[in-house]
Amino acid sequence: MTELEKMNDQMLQEHYSALVHRYEEFQAQKLKLNMSRGIPSLDQLNLASGLLDCLTQTDYKAADGTDCRNYGGVDGIPEAKQLFSQVLEASPNEIIIGGNSSLSLMYDLIARAMLLGLPDSETPWVKLPQVKFLCPSPGYDRHFAICEHLGIEMIPINYQHDGPDMTQVEQLVAADSSIKGIWCVPKHSNPTGITYSDAVVKRLAAMPVKAPDFRIFWDNAYTVHHLTDTPPRLLNILDECKQAGNPDRVLVFGSTSKVSFAGSGIAVLASSETNISWFKKHLSIQTIGPDKLNQLRHVRFFNDLAGIEAHMRKHAAIIKPKFDLAIAIMETELGGQNLASWSKPQGGYFISVNTLPGCAKKIVAKTAAAGVVLTPAGATFPYGKDPKDNNIRLAPTFPPLAELKQAMELFTLCIQLISVEQELE
Ligand code: PLP
Repeated sequence: MTELEKMNDQMLQEHYSALVHRYEEFQAQKLKLNMSRGIPSLDQLNLASGLLDCLTQTDYKAADGTDCRNYGGVDGIPEAKQLFSQVLEASPNEIIIGGNSSLSLMYDLIARAMLLGLPDSETPWVKLPQVKFLCPSPGYDRHFAICEHLGIEMIPINYQHDGPDMTQVEQLVAADSSIKGIWCVPKHSNPTGITYSDAVVKRLAAMPVKAPDFRIFWDNAYTVHHLTDTPPRLLNILDECKQAGNPDRVLVFGSTSKVSFAGSGIAVLASSETNISWFKKHLSIQTIGPDKLNQLRHVRFFNDLAGIEAHMRKHAAIIKPKFDLAIAIMETELGGQNLASWSKPQGGYFISVNTLPGCAKKIVAKTAAAGVVLTPAGATFPYGKDPKDNNIRLAPTFPPLAELKQAMELFTLCIQLISVEQELE
């Protein structure tokens, strides 16, 4: 029962008037804040300024003698593979270093599967009457956008506390050969913050599937992005797939977008040697080679996994206070009222808020009308359709603390306002 349900009509009206008054005060401030996307703050970007001058006029050669200024090296320079093999826990020959975006690696991979088929496809996916992906939700809107764009039907899957509902997943993939993939953000997930349990990873690796070319799209975007010193451990799915006899099942993605520079990082794909050599063959038609100077820069700047981890502790020192502030404001303004619940992530970039059913769209619109833009309600579900209309993704990393405080006070006020309006209806 919510606190509002305990109020009589007069109490509810008085409470509503007080909330409206506070809302009008916010409107008078003419705020202009944006919390819609998970973007690193200026302080975070500045941490990596050394990337801009860590190479010199004479330092442009990779360990194997490759001149990084020139064409070639389509799958990456050896020391970059070595570095990211530590990050993604794969061997260097299971790695391809891409350009600046892991999302574009994912898009390209699916587009190739559609157009040409995967190594174990009987036919290019586009020639099939239907192609479907499982979409654990709430999830990352840009994954869903790729599917929608390419005409792939999305099947929402419920999340449990430790990953997708595996009973649902196992039943679907065992029965339907048109299900070709599942999207997973397995660590500090976007937006729920959860990390998949060992049991979920093992079931994904071992489950019987009807499609011979089924793939797990393992977007490990937040693998080193911890907010605590005791982060959860994620089982190595490449090893689990090998052990289960399904070595080609998983495609692991990562990038330094939220480690170095969001627009000028390094993206990585890790997978079985079969998948990697297939990808490399197609990649060499698409490009003569990636930006190897950027790869070399990243190697010089970070050196090894320990260097990346030390750097990420500096990120945490900047963004943890923002997560703490956002959560503290929700606890002060909403605690004990049963109007909303929220995640308390141990890493990643987001806080996931669940409001009363049917309120999320109105809350986001109300917040925007007073000058604070949030991720559109529904964006965390396939086709932008949140069946309960109650999930809102918060991205607290970009605004400075003072702005975040204003935004969160307005947001929590709007949750109360819309919840009362619903109660009054
Ligand atoms: N994957 C997830 C889960 C993300 O949250 C994001 C960015 O927010 C990305 C991928 C984008 O990665 P990239 O910048 O490497 O394309």
